[in-house]
Amino acid sequence: MIYYDVNCFGCRKIGRDVEGSIEYKQVKNNRNRRHLCPNCKMRVQLESEKISGVNTKIIKALDIASQINSNL
Ligand SMILES: [Zn+2]
Repeated sequence: MIYYDVNCFGCRKIGRDVEGSIEYKQVKNNRNRRHLCPNCKMRVQLESEKISGVNTKIIKALDIASQINSNL
């Protein structure tokens, strides 16, 4: 199993991104990228939804779509 151990930017806990996940690809492409664990990601999402009123599920879908496009 191939993986990266990454430090969460939010809570500083060490998480693991396993090969095949979107997070793994993101770390592989940019090792300096700020990583957030699922708990912190959820917290940030809820916070930004509260502040902006924008549903982040739509943003996430667009984000995934743009990643797929950039991999073509
Ligand atoms: Zn965290």
